[in-house]
Amino acid sequence: MDRRLDTRRYLKSRAFLLVLIVALICTFVITTICAINNIVVEQNQIQQKSVTPVFDLVNRELLKPLYLAESFANSFALESEIYAEHVDEDALLKKLEKMEKRFGVTVFLALEKQRRQYMSDGRAFDLNEGEVYWYFEALQEDKAIMADLGQAEDIHLFFDVKIVGEGESFLGYVGVGEPIATFLDKFDEYKSQYGYDFLFVDDRNEIVLTSFADLIIIDQFAPSLSDLGAFSSRDIDLRNLDSETVVMRNEEYMISEIAIQEFDWRLLLLTPTEMRKATVTKTLLLNAFMTFALVASILAASYALLLQYKFSLESSSLTDSLTGLSNRSFLERQYIRLRKKQAMLCVVVCDLDRFKSINDTYGHNVGDEVLKHTANILKKQFREGDVVGRWGGEEFVILVPSKSADLGIKIAERTRQELASAQIYADGQRVQLTASFGVCFGSAEKPMAKLVGMADVALYQAKDQGRNRVIAKDFYSTVSMDNFRASA
Ligand code: GH3
Ligand code: MG
Ligand code: MG
Repeated sequence: MDRRLDTRRYLKSRAFLLVLIVALICTFVITTICAINNIVVEQNQIQQKSVTPVFDLVNRELLKPLYLAESFANSFALESEIYAEHVDEDALLKKLEKMEKRFGVTVFLALEKQRRQYMSDGRAFDLNEGEVYWYFEALQEDKAIMADLGQAEDIHLFFDVKIVGEGESFLGYVGVGEPIATFLDKFDEYKSQYGYDFLFVDDRNEIVLTSFADLIIIDQFAPSLSDLGAFSSRDIDLRNLDSETVVMRNEEYMISEIAIQEFDWRLLLLTPTEMRKATVTKTLLLNAFMTFALVASILAASYALLLQYKFSLESSSLTDSLTGLSNRSFLERQYIRLRKKQAMLCVVVCDLDRFKSINDTYGHNVGDEVLKHTANILKKQFREGDVVGRWGGEEFVILVPSKSADLGIKIAERTRQELASAQIYADGQRVQLTASFGVCFGSAEKPMAKLVGMADVALYQAKDQGRNRVIAKDFYSTVSMDNFRASA
């Protein structure tokens, strides 16, 4: 029976270990997958976070002036005066000045029929080939919308929209411009908030706008992408720069490309890879910490469980199942501990008197109840440091660390009286219970069997002398302490 129990326990602990290993592997796999997912999600969020405001920026800064220019072009197309051979220049210039004041942008009107350009700052000049390049380029390319740089002293970005009159006739261009400095301020704000740089390039790969202050257009000539070492030295396709990495100003950047179809431009968003690495490292570290914490808590919980299991195994093997007292093994272990301390002690042996007749009269179950009752009384009478155990049957052994026999005798006597006056009932009748005690005083350096044997001798004497009494023996004195006798 015992062996079968052991085998079951062994199998249980093996199964537990197996479950633990599987749980750890699962935890590792799940947390790794979670870590990868988190990094991907985080990277997407970062991308999203930076791209959304960039769209706002493009909408606000670039498309707004474009839409303004478009609406001006439409309204000019309806005005009869620009169809005339000679226009009232003063009235036109006043109108442009008003528009500048009202919308806070520089406005110009370039008329084809008159080949004259009128500016909102009050200037008016002829559109001569070889002087006003943009106009003749625009004519050649026949574009409906253009964005170009102008006004050498204070470089402006102009959004030019073709004015189309009745019968699809070409009337000229309306332009809305803003100083480049305005854009740069906005870009700087964006850069300090999100940490990204950017380049706007046109269809000829010329850098029209950028957050790199030193790449700003000089004398109306925008630098080309291929003029930059970062884009020319490597074998990269300038037509598709998405996800490319480039090194500029000793910093490595990753490019996200966004098309701005209105002008045939591309926005190259440059993310410092260090920044990306830092966020990936942060996410990785966080996940590693979480994994560690999870594994550590699983291990701690398992360890606690094992300890508890071990403890319950041990205590079940050291406890008497009927009375809950320590069993013989535990008494022996405790004796070894006392022995190591070279302690002096009283060994008290207690045996119920005529217990067989209680069993015979009231039955085995009542006998068991009496044993439990006895155990409770013993536990109450002895002190915290004493070890009260069931030796076997209706015999109990108590180890009482003490400097003399007196203490053991005193407690044994008190317990004897307590048992004799205990109110135990069976079938409505009081069960009369008494016990005899043998006490032996000695050093724990002696083997336990010797001290218990000596206490047993005292116990037999107590039985012989009529039971329900305490007899003590001192291991050291040649004189027996048989004279100690407590009367019933
Ligand atoms: P004495 O005063 O000489 O000690 O007489 P006694 O009847 O107590 O002694 P004896 O050794 O003849 O009988 C002990 C009895 O205790 C015999 C056994 O049936 C009973 N016993 C032992 N263990 C248990 C137990 O766990 N439960 C019950 N109910 N009885 C038990
Ligand atoms: Mg007995
Ligand atoms: Mg007995």
